[in-house]
Amino acid sequence: MTDPLSGPRSERRAPAVGFVSLGCPKALVDSERIITELRTRGYQIAPDYQGADLVVVNTCGFIDAAIDESLQAIGEALAHHGRVLVTGCLGANPQRILARHPQVLGITGPQAYAQVLAAVEAHLPRPHERCSTLVPAQGLRLTPPHYAYLKISEGCNNRCSFCIIPQLRGPLRSRSLDEVMREAEALVASGVRELLVISQDSGAYGRDLRYRPVLWREQRHESRFIALARALGTLGVWVRLHYVYPYPHIDEVIALMREPGVLPYLDIPFQHASPPVLRRMRRPAQAEDTLRRIQAWRRERPELVLRSSFIVGFPGESEAEFAELLAWLDEAQLDRVGCFRYSAVEGAAANTIAPAVPEQIKDERYERFMQKAAAISRARLQARVGRRCRVLIDTVQKRRALGRSSGEAPEIDGVVRVQSHPTHPTLRPGDLCEVEITAADSYDLSARALGLSGAATERRLSQAR
Ligand code: SF4
Repeated sequence: MTDPLSGPRSERRAPAVGFVSLGCPKALVDSERIITELRTRGYQIAPDYQGADLVVVNTCGFIDAAIDESLQAIGEALAHHGRVLVTGCLGANPQRILARHPQVLGITGPQAYAQVLAAVEAHLPRPHERCSTLVPAQGLRLTPPHYAYLKISEGCNNRCSFCIIPQLRGPLRSRSLDEVMREAEALVASGVRELLVISQDSGAYGRDLRYRPVLWREQRHESRFIALARALGTLGVWVRLHYVYPYPHIDEVIALMREPGVLPYLDIPFQHASPPVLRRMRRPAQAEDTLRRIQAWRRERPELVLRSSFIVGFPGESEAEFAELLAWLDEAQLDRVGCFRYSAVEGAAANTIAPAVPEQIKDERYERFMQKAAAISRARLQARVGRRCRVLIDTVQKRRALGRSSGEAPEIDGVVRVQSHPTHPTLRPGDLCEVEITAADSYDLSARALGLSGAATERRLSQAR
């Protein structure tokens, strides 16, 4: 490996840091923050191991599969490069990392931004020049230019029995509304068309601040979830709400939903539907009558798309409790659903709450669950055939583009395959396009382009000016 700081000054280049980012969108936002600060301090970000003088691996430590993936990624970085720092959720358990990879240079935990930067500087001295002018106002991002994750809080005050996130990331710490809005405005000014609101528990936003009022655009706003959603809805871009538990005040968000603005889409991780299982899971808002509320939301916004995730094979889950979950799913008719087989997380209370469900039964329940979820998804997507909607284009290959309507979040939901019309302009990533849905399968939609939306045409014209 070459030493970037050796040789005549004219031949020196800025030291380069390679970055491997694993885990959920919240970890991705942490990576973006670290990369932005490294760049501001004058480091280059290397696109591969060969170009890096040091590699940082941002890990996930949530479930065993994620821990394995993180340990493998550290091993790969060590094998390819040798000089590796580890950060992120798995870093909260350094013994587990050192037991397999004692040669890592240093380990820090989640959100330990200052410590990661100090560790980088200790092993790769910082260049003399800061480069803040090279870093855009919205920071450096790892998502495509037209969408961005917006993290509104850190940590979590809940104590779900299967989860160690509160141990890893600490209690709820909301960002004040004006700070979140300034970041959102900078993202929109940079060309972002869709803001994906994330946190561990978005509906709890502001509780730790006691809903402190702040000024944004010379108006007083309380740091509350509903006020934040309302303010974000004025920015003229799509706003997609993730990790929203069904607290009673979420009913108010439904009234805000309209395009462009807060999308008729809610990502609510229900995890189960049987009351005894939810009690054993210690889920927030588990006592709410969610079926009745889902029906009320849909009466108010028939186009509302609900996404959720579930765990099957939770300790002590009986066949009757699982059947209750399937029956609930039949009633709830959720549009987009993910499912996980329960996997014991070291340090989680659930491991000792009730006897483990045998792996074979978990597999069998997973299959039954997914069959039902796929049938519901197919029927709900089929009902959209013939309708018109707007699609945000993500990627383009020749005359076919892949995008998403308000009903599909990136990475986790299906896509809309858009066939562009020979007489229409070629679609580009970031375009908002009017389409007619022509076909559906279990998870994805097909559509034909009708034309660019007015906003997209205007944006192209302003780019051309
Ligand atoms: S709400 Fe529950 S599952 Fe989500 S981060 Fe908090 S404790 Fe974990």
